Amino acid sequence: MKIIDLLREDRLSLSFEVFPPKTDTAFESVKSATEEIAKLKPAFMSVTYGAGGGTSKYTLDIAKNIKDTYGVSTLAHLTCVSSTKETVRKKIEEIRAAGICNVMALRGDLTPEMENSDRSGWSYRHAVDLVRELRESGADFCIGGACYPEIHPESVNQKDDILRLKEKVDAGCDFLTTQMFFDNNLLYNFMYKIREAGITVPIVAGIMPITNANQVERAIKLSGSHMPQRFKSLVDKFGTSPAAMKQAGIAYATDQIIDLYANNITNVHVYSMNKPDVAEKIQANLSHIIGL
Ligand code: FAD
Repeated sequence: MKIIDLLREDRLSLSFEVFPPKTDTAFESVKSATEEIAKLKPAFMSVTYGAGGGTSKYTLDIAKNIKDTYGVSTLAHLTCVSSTKETVRKKIEEIRAAGICNVMALRGDLTPEMENSDRSGWSYRHAVDLVRELRESGADFCIGGACYPEIHPESVNQKDDILRLKEKVDAGCDFLTTQMFFDNNLLYNFMYKIREAGITVPIVAGIMPITNANQVERAIKLSGSHMPQRFKSLVDKFGTSPAAMKQAGIAYATDQIIDLYANNITNVHVYSMNKPDVAEKIQANLSHIIGL
């Protein structure tokens, strides 16, 4: 099923993100974790592509298994930075052949070597180039793109970032998923600005449940997200007790989701990081709300 059709509903749509194994030996345990999450029957599941230094070898295997075995719609991530046309076209054909109709079109992060290299000869310099390639492939894909309520770290300012985002949507994105954020007001402000800029596609709010203190630093480094004082206090108080921190992190994420839905943001994607217990607790906390 195309994800865009799920996002147009008025009810809260809760989806989960998983990532493929970083090594061959981890395949079975990752597969089993993603299956536990699929059993929760979320609106859809996304499978990342080599994010955080991982391999991209198993993205399609995991996505296909979730779809075929559990009937959950899947969104396969794909990045294009520094790839050749041949590689990207082959990947697109593999996605289509696997029967996956939802693709998250991403540029991918630049390594320090890439940042210092001559990028003029690259076939794909931005995600918009991949969106165009996917549209030109002729396959009937539902395409998602990334967006950044706190602006992308490489952007000169938010106005320019939103202009680029509009170009990406106009090239063929059906919906956008946000980078994680911990202060909902940042999203409300961003929504106002993008709607004013003429971006009308559905926005999926990305929520990361922070369940251990070590994750905080990594999350900030990856996303550049602002940590509100309310969240910092929680880490200060519970950070040294793993069980308490997990409970508090899940409660914080749940609270964010309830506030989003109360403000008519109906699509929420949880960065569940291959943790079925976290996904399950968040879903259970929202059981009556999801039914509304
Ligand atoms: P782009 O849309 O290309 O934007 C990147 C920067 O370039 C922005 O500053 C933008 O304003 C600017 N820009 C865009 N177009 C132009 C243009 N034409 N000219 C000049 N400047 C332009 N990474 C992975 O490796 N694997 C994943 O699976 C993955 N999943 C993600 C999922 C989500 C929801 C998000 C938010 C991020 C994900 N990432 C993933 C990280 C992502 O690859 C990085 O954030 C990357 O730095 C930017 O990707 P993008 O697709 O947003 O790029």
